[in-house]
Amino acid sequence: MTKLAFHIDVTRPAERQVHIRATWSAPSAERVEFFLPTWTPGSYLLREYARHVSRVCAYEQGTNRPLACVKVAKNRWSVEAAAGGIELRYRVYTHELTVRTADVDAHHAYWNHACLLLWPRGHRDAEAELVVDYPSEWTLSCSLRGEESSTERHRRSTLRAAGLDEALDAPVLIGLTRRLEWQVDGVDHAIDLDGLASVSPPPTLTEDLAAIVRAAKGVFDDELPYERYVFQALFSGEGYGGLEHRDSSTLLMPRTSLTTPTGYRDFLGLAAHELFHAWNVKRMRPAEFWEYDYEAENYTRLLWLIEGWTAYYDDVLVTRAGRMTHADYCATMAKNIQNMRAAPGRLELSLEESSFDAWIRLYRPDEDTRNSSQNYYGNGAVAAMCLDLGIRRATGGERSLDHVLRALWQQTFEQGRGYRLEDVHRAVTDIAGAGLVEELVGLVAGSLDPELDDWLRDVGLCLEARDAGKPFLGLALKAGTTRVASVTRGGPACRGGVAPDDELLAFEDLRVSNSTWQTVLTSVASVGEPLAVLVARRGVIRRVEVTPLAGPGIARLVLDPTATAAQLRAREAWLGADS
Ligand SMILES: [Zn+2]
Repeated sequence: MTKLAFHIDVTRPAERQVHIRATWSAPSAERVEFFLPTWTPGSYLLREYARHVSRVCAYEQGTNRPLACVKVAKNRWSVEAAAGGIELRYRVYTHELTVRTADVDAHHAYWNHACLLLWPRGHRDAEAELVVDYPSEWTLSCSLRGEESSTERHRRSTLRAAGLDEALDAPVLIGLTRRLEWQVDGVDHAIDLDGLASVSPPPTLTEDLAAIVRAAKGVFDDELPYERYVFQALFSGEGYGGLEHRDSSTLLMPRTSLTTPTGYRDFLGLAAHELFHAWNVKRMRPAEFWEYDYEAENYTRLLWLIEGWTAYYDDVLVTRAGRMTHADYCATMAKNIQNMRAAPGRLELSLEESSFDAWIRLYRPDEDTRNSSQNYYGNGAVAAMCLDLGIRRATGGERSLDHVLRALWQQTFEQGRGYRLEDVHRAVTDIAGAGLVEELVGLVAGSLDPELDDWLRDVGLCLEARDAGKPFLGLALKAGTTRVASVTRGGPACRGGVAPDDELLAFEDLRVSNSTWQTVLTSVASVGEPLAVLVARRGVIRRVEVTPLAGPGIARLVLDPTATAAQLRAREAWLGADS
């Protein structure tokens, strides 16, 4: 019999809160502590969901006798012993539309159970029943198994989770959603679309997603790891994000992204990214993630593999699926290369170190982040591409990063264990030899400064720089303003004394705005010649002198029109036939 049950009342969604009754039917001779997670796997920051929980009261089950319930930590409640079992009643405020939180309003309800379920400590494997009541015109989407019923006043779904891990890995979406379904290899897939308003989904959506699913399974021995899969797609006016789960994922995008070719490609890239995680991190994962601690930071040095390799494969999969041309692929990879090169933090903090520091850095960027840290998503994707092209070169095109992932999957996940860095090295050695391990260590353990031109030549691509040589200051402005967002450490603006938060007023007494500053700079500045720059700092106008350097230009990745047949073959083996 299930000892743990939650009744989640969403019948008054306009209140922007849910009312919950949690019952723990085990008779207890001692106090029982209940806790709420402080973070959601996949998003590595303590988010302190307990701050939205209010009025936690405890009662003895059956007799309804009030029980002493004391808060003993920011996210824990201790309840006195009760022979008949414990019932908790509480409310959770739900007003944050991101993929990792909870958002309930008159038009939909979405939540991660990490925000809602007060779980008895020490009973991680307790089977739980989740009864959800919601408006009768809505439909519920969740990867947990369950059944539906309805009363005159509302609809009810009864879901079952085998334990805490399964419950936390299955967010719920309810609303006037639109469901599209398809199968790949007889396995059911669906996408639940929420918040589309008057936007219609592209007619090829299910076909495109099916092609991406086939491309993803192609990396892993052509087998799907789940029994069914659902994409929960939340659309809004703005916002962007994705979160992976074992048998589902949540995607958040502006609804207008479905209406333009580039926006739709981004949407497919996000879907491919989260789907790829069904293998990379939701199943095959580092030993330190094998059993999560939901109340503290879980450190790993391997997010360059978890997120970086996934960020590499997302666009590769969309391209292999024929939904992106080789030229489109080059354009998105060029952005990663540009971002990597423009931020000197890659020379300060390695990909391993930035993985370890995710909890204090990646989700808390500030004006110095680009100087002191690096992003293991985009930079991890560039590093993954170098490793992949390196393996292809070392094995004469016989093997690739796909084979490394397959080997790691077989040697660790299929053996029922998490992997360590040594396992990754072993998989690379088995597939491509020890020389490639050295290459990998060079990419992730120190400064990241790969010889990209060399690798890209193998697949008939040329790396160029647009606008190279123009006067360059090494600063960036905050969107829509003339306030300095960041300056590149050691760059001309930094050396001249321009600092973050300065308001940029004029170059050589010519007033600048957010939209004109670069044009004005090009008209009045010369490389190597001092430039008078007017800024406002702490309310005082100051004149500083900055000497521009010749800019490195913006990275462009182009298809080499003179590529040989061998280079074209290598490119096709990598990205699939050009569409
Ligand atoms: Zn990811």
